Amino acid sequence: MHPARKIVVNQSLRAGKPLIIAIDGPAGAGKSTVARKVAQELGYLYIDTGAMYRAAAWLILQKNIDPNDQTTVAALISTAKIELRQAKDIDGPISVLINGHEVTAAIRKQAVTHLVSPLATQPAVRQYMVKQQQQMAASGGVVMDGRDIGTVVLPEADLKIFLTATPEVRAKRRWHDLANQGEQADINILITEIRQRDERDSTRAVGPLKLADDAITIDTDSSTIDSVVATIINYCQQV
Ligand code: C5P
Repeated sequence: MHPARKIVVNQSLRAGKPLIIAIDGPAGAGKSTVARKVAQELGYLYIDTGAMYRAAAWLILQKNIDPNDQTTVAALISTAKIELRQAKDIDGPISVLINGHEVTAAIRKQAVTHLVSPLATQPAVRQYMVKQQQQMAASGGVVMDGRDIGTVVLPEADLKIFLTATPEVRAKRRWHDLANQGEQADINILITEIRQRDERDSTRAVGPLKLADDAITIDTDSSTIDSVVATIINYCQQV
């Protein structure tokens, strides 16, 4: 996906009932960028649930506790304070804090990426995150992205979108993101890791990555970011 033209939002949509929009899909399908821009266009709150799981993984690494010790992990995560703050630069990523530590950049490192998906299979971790996310969305006017938003977190969402792209295209995007952070990666290893993460995210017992029955699928392989955003805004106008 590439940046493209400006989107013009129907004023009645901005003025109307604040919607709850769920955007799910696998890693690298473009969820975060698209969800952030949709939220920006509508003046809604953007909630990146992947960042919340990543912050939890960061905390476990920082505390040096055994990620397989589910009791200790549950105790640590259930008392953690995770905050998502809109960046001053509206086009920048949202700031992520856990227990007051600013971890926006740290949670994108490979060490966190490797731990987050096994951690996200733990029922106690998911239970805690889902509850937090439901509270954050309670008053509407939100765009939330993740894996289980349309199916588990916000099953009553006004609009559910499922973004997809091939593992090759998603790995290429990840490669560019890492290069921008000064990390070098092998594209073939990234493709393998993405397939493994998809497999783990889709087959876990609790909150698996799954297309909701009433979700609209959008393939992002050959679309620009702005055309995907415009398509979603268009669906919002029909809700
Ligand atoms: O979206 P992102 O790739 O940053 O998410 C990181 C990981 O967090 C995912 O691979 C998945 O294991 C987990 N996750 C989840 N449920 C969500 C969001 C993310 O299990 N709602």
